[in-house]
Amino acid sequence: MDELEPGIFRVTFALPLGIDHVHCYFLRSSNGGFILVDTSLGTRDAEAKWRPVLDALDAPVEAIVVTHMHPDHVGGARDVAALTGAPVFQGREDHAQCVRAWGERNPEVFAAYWTEHGMPPATVEGLIAESDRLISAVHWVEEPDRLLDPGDEVDGWRVEVLRGHADGHIVLQRDDVLIAGDTILAGITPAVGLYPRSRPDPLGDYLESLRRIEELAPRVAYSGHETPVTDPAGRAREIRAHHADRLAHAEAALNGEPLSAYEVSLALFSSDLSTTLRRFATAESLAHLERLVREGRAVRTGRGYVKAGM
Ligand SMILES: [Zn+2]
Repeated sequence: MDELEPGIFRVTFALPLGIDHVHCYFLRSSNGGFILVDTSLGTRDAEAKWRPVLDALDAPVEAIVVTHMHPDHVGGARDVAALTGAPVFQGREDHAQCVRAWGERNPEVFAAYWTEHGMPPATVEGLIAESDRLISAVHWVEEPDRLLDPGDEVDGWRVEVLRGHADGHIVLQRDDVLIAGDTILAGITPAVGLYPRSRPDPLGDYLESLRRIEELAPRVAYSGHETPVTDPAGRAREIRAHHADRLAHAEAALNGEPLSAYEVSLALFSSDLSTTLRRFATAESLAHLERLVREGRAVRTGRGYVKAGM
């Protein structure tokens, strides 16, 4: 466990996903205990995963906060709650999304969605198999002890919703520190994709969140992956420029014929991707296409998307 600055500790777990690690944070509470932020993936042997971490703490965990419903953040919530007895706090909107994604998971709706967006049957089958495997590692909590709304406080940390990477993604802010989840990352850009049963314009949401980070201009953001972001406002500007560039590429990829999001993803990303990465690429292309539609630069047709004015 690393102490990043007084009262902020970080533990990192390996992940068997597209990204190979995730960070969880222990924030020293005003009682001298800890607030754990994010929980990595669920596991069959939670004791083996968490006991060494919990034993290294000099005080109990008093609360567990989940930033968002992705498996590497919410997945271990039930495990670590059982081991510590600590209450679990989750964003109200994020929890509703968690229920839709994991509690009401429907492989047929999921398959129909990707098929509609042009994904070939073999890739769709691969995705279903992958999500069957993944769900066994998502130990989310059906009834959190507290549902957090924007403006709420958790022991002096102010809750804010910064949408885009996930619809109801929450962050915690105190003084000039942001516990950022995956809203902003150093070195890599947070994935922003359009998924079934979610908000319709995640990239629009995300661009707003980046503006908000510029406005907050924290000294540092401690994120779910990679190194701390030491100039979050500057990084937000960089990521905004990246998306402007990607939007231009997506627009240019629309060459006259209506194209599905899957086809656009082949133009924007490498054609040689694993099933998981192709899902990210297609969802991300969809997010860009839907933003282009809202900006009047593309039009949705029955079969896919065309450039506006064609
Ligand atoms: Zn993550």
